[in-house]
Amino acid sequence: MSRRLVTVRKVSDTQPIRGADRIETAVVDGWQCIVKKGDFHIGQLGVFFEIDSFLPGEDPRWAFLESNFINWNGQRGFRIKSQKMRGSVSQGLLIPLGDLPEVTGVLEELEGKHGREEAEKLVQGLSFEAALKVQKWEAMDNKTGGWNEISKAPMPAFIRKTDQERCQNLPHVFEEWKDETFQESTKMDGSSMTVYFVRNDSDKVQHLPEVDTAKQPTVVQSNGRFGVCSRNVDITEDYGDNGSQYWKVASNNQLAGKLSKLNRSLAVQGELCGATIQGNVEGFPVGFHDFFVFAVWDIDAQKYLAPQDTEALAKQLGLRHVPVVGYFPLREIATSVQGLLQRAEGVGLNKRKREGIVLKHVRGDFSFKAISNSYLLKHGE
Ligand code: AMP
Ligand code: MN
Repeated sequence: MSRRLVTVRKVSDTQPIRGADRIETAVVDGWQCIVKKGDFHIGQLGVFFEIDSFLPGEDPRWAFLESNFINWNGQRGFRIKSQKMRGSVSQGLLIPLGDLPEVTGVLEELEGKHGREEAEKLVQGLSFEAALKVQKWEAMDNKTGGWNEISKAPMPAFIRKTDQERCQNLPHVFEEWKDETFQESTKMDGSSMTVYFVRNDSDKVQHLPEVDTAKQPTVVQSNGRFGVCSRNVDITEDYGDNGSQYWKVASNNQLAGKLSKLNRSLAVQGELCGATIQGNVEGFPVGFHDFFVFAVWDIDAQKYLAPQDTEALAKQLGLRHVPVVGYFPLREIATSVQGLLQRAEGVGLNKRKREGIVLKHVRGDFSFKAISNSYLLKHGE
């Protein structure tokens, strides 16, 4: 499921900001946003735009943000970031429902069918990014940013994307999962990378794009197909000649040979990090690039391996793994969104301020992230 960026949420608290008389804070789920004083009261619904929403500049309703518009992916618009105003963190944009007919229209329609109370519940389960032409802002790697020109193939649909939900959107998780054990790992800030191997006898192999083996000699192995993907794109092998690190790092780690020898239909997912990736926030030395495994997707079973099995497999394949803090019952890690955000503050592999932490349930598929607020503010995100 792709992340819901624009949602209707209920305000659970409002607080004045010391020294400010025109603004105050409003809380929706685990998020705190700064709003115009009096715009919201407790229990009121608002339309919440999560950080990393990209608002289209041509929509006149965003004109008030125009002085901070950016160019992104060939478009002009506003990227919602974390901000600090008068000492208070503001994350996301909260707009009164009545300002957005795209939303009130849906609510009224639901109300006609189900009554007000039920309609309010239902509308909170929907997402409005499509209706409002909001996109998820993503860093564009210079080398893979224009991915349409690199490869026409998206990452194979039978591989799960590496996105993680933010803990602020899961305020009930601390009660519901408190006795369950999670792996806590460091979130590294590079680029998502997936390498896959699909056996020739797998029914999935027919869904892979055709290859020109003269240009892509490594892709066709005797017992199956090998591929290297960024977050969204199956990258063609010859694209490596352009200086893109994905295939280079895969080749330095002899991944095609290792996965073919293992002879299992798997997608190994990790973070591509190094001197030229995403501003090298982790602080790796010049020339260093590598792949730090954080998950393994079982292509035939269509589920993730348990985190312990992922660690063992990374070791067996001679690959680095993202740092693992340990395995703990959730209640020992944190009991609230605020507590988890506190715990996310810390340092990474090379002792620089880390992006955050990722919690993965010991039995596989459920996981989520906590991003350090001080990291977001420091990097202007
Ligand atoms: P974001 O970068 O905020 O979109 O968060 C999700 C991304 O975090 C995933 O797509 C991964 O590329 C990346 N990531 C970095 N470290 C980890 C980790 N330890 N576990 C899972 N994902 C990670
Ligand atoms: Mn990232």
